[in-house]
Amino acid sequence: SLAGKTAVITGSNSGIGLGIARELARAGADVVLNSFTDSAEDHALAASIGAEFGVTARYICADMSKGDDCRALIEQAGACDILVNNAGIQHVASVDEFPTAKWDAIIAINLTSAFHTTAAALPKMRAAGWGRVINIASAHGLTASPYKSAYVAAKHGIVGFSKVVALETAEEPITCNSVCPGYVLTPLVESQIPDQMKTHSMSREEVIKKVMLDRQPSRAFATVEQMGGTVVFLCSDYAAQITGTAISVDGGWTAL
Ligand code: NAD
Repeated sequence: SLAGKTAVITGSNSGIGLGIARELARAGADVVLNSFTDSAEDHALAASIGAEFGVTARYICADMSKGDDCRALIEQAGACDILVNNAGIQHVASVDEFPTAKWDAIIAINLTSAFHTTAAALPKMRAAGWGRVINIASAHGLTASPYKSAYVAAKHGIVGFSKVVALETAEEPITCNSVCPGYVLTPLVESQIPDQMKTHSMSREEVIKKVMLDRQPSRAFATVEQMGGTVVFLCSDYAAQITGTAISVDGGWTAL
């Protein structure tokens, strides 16, 4: 059980982050949810997880594109035994047409935020004598696709960053790994479908089967519960010697 541990999950009011927060709470951890909004629904979502699983669940607003916000999130969380860097955005365009502002935002949110949160969390993990840093990378942290230059660069970057944190903490009871999901049907993926339909002149079903799941040999989306379960496993004692690695949950994508 993760009772007594506090988990901070960035970008967790939706999609994979929310699924991870729910599975960590189910395993007994107190959870801190996060996004850049500060609505009544955000706080109600945390309250509902707390009530459902009998843990302390809070929501803290912080914009993961800003370094100071990243560090403030960890400070405001108080304890941070488990850090899940999950916040991420996507933009699809060829390199020569890629908007600079999108490039900068993707690198900031998908990569640099993990540097700031990890830097702020490691002293807390050392003081507590235990810690887990889990970075949600992607199959695009290990392989590439056209038109996703910033995303692929950021995800390859976070796989590398995870290895460095693992080496710097190797002799301590702290591990750092990345999880590399294949396609998971979340709002992030849902929002790519209309563009892909236009690009390929295909129906929604064709885009899902022929474009998105073309690279995923299982021909099925992975689920947010499976991502949460993988994170819970990495927090368990079974995984104490798993550090500096990337765990693919991608239906065979990176085996191709
Ligand atoms: P999503 O859009 O459903 O969720 C993204 C989360 O990040 C949301 O909670 C959003 O509010 C938050 N977020 C965005 N910008 C933020 C900011 N500036 N500050 C704080 N929070 C911010 O997407 P998802 O599919 O759940 O993606 C979650 C992570 O998983 C991302 O890092 C993504 O790259 C990765 N991933 C997703 C898939 C997939 O198929 N869905 C596959 C591989 C990797």
